[in-house]
Amino acid sequence: MHLLIVEDDDSIADPLAKGLQREGFTITRVATGRDALDAPPVDLILLDLGLPDLDGNEVCRQLRARTQTPIIVVSARGDEIDRVLLLELGADDYVVKPFGFRELVARIRAVTRRGTAPDRAGGRGPWPDREPTAQRIGGLEIDRRTRHATLDGNDLALTPKEFDLLAFLAEDPGAVCSRTRILEGVWDEHWWGPSKTLDVHVASLRRKLGDPAWIQTARGVGFRLAGPSSADPGP
Ligand code: CA
Repeated sequence: MHLLIVEDDDSIADPLAKGLQREGFTITRVATGRDALDAPPVDLILLDLGLPDLDGNEVCRQLRARTQTPIIVVSARGDEIDRVLLLELGADDYVVKPFGFRELVARIRAVTRRGTAPDRAGGRGPWPDREPTAQRIGGLEIDRRTRHATLDGNDLALTPKEFDLLAFLAEDPGAVCSRTRILEGVWDEHWWGPSKTLDVHVASLRRKLGDPAWIQTARGVGFRLAGPSSADPGP
C-alpha cells in the first residue's frame, strides 16, 4: 500500500516514514500543501494540518474534492470544532500529536479496510481479522470485520469513531460504560482532550440510529446501549 505523508517537520516525518516502511508501506513524502495537491495518486494520505504554505483545512477540502483516497489528518490542535469540521471537510479520521505509532497504524488499517471492504466481496482483508461474525442487537447489526453497521438492513454510514463507539458499547449491551472507560477504549489510553468529544459522537450516533433510546445516558456515569424498544434490557 502506497502512503503519502504530508508533513513539513522532518523530526516527525523521518521516523514516521521509516516506521511505516518497516510495516510494509510504500512512502511518498511532501512538505507543503501545494505538493500534496500535485502528488500522484496513492492509497492513503496522512495530512499534517500545520503546513508552511496553505491552510491544512483547505488542503483537506481540495484533496477530497479531487479524490476518494482515504485521508487521515494529523493535527496538533485539540480543538473540538476543528475535529468536527475536519470530518465534515472529508477527512476519514484524525490523530492528534503526539500520537502513538501503533495507534496510527491501527487507524490506517481501519480506514483502508473500511474503504476497501465493499470491493472485496466478503473476502478477508489484508490483515488478520479478530472477530469474524456480525453481532445482532434487535434490528442493529455490527460487523467488526468490515466495520459496517446496519439498522433494519439499512447502512448506517458511520464515521470511524462513531463505529468504534457503537462497537465498544455493543461489547456488553445493556451494561453501563463509564465515560472514562469509553474514552480510553475508543479514543486512546493517553486521551487528554475535552470529554465533550464523547458527547458529540454520542449525539451523532443517536441521530443516525434514528432513536435516542438506543444509547441511554446514565447520569453522571456514562452510557449504555439498549435498543429503542427495550428501555429495560433486564438481567
Ligand atoms: Ca507541521
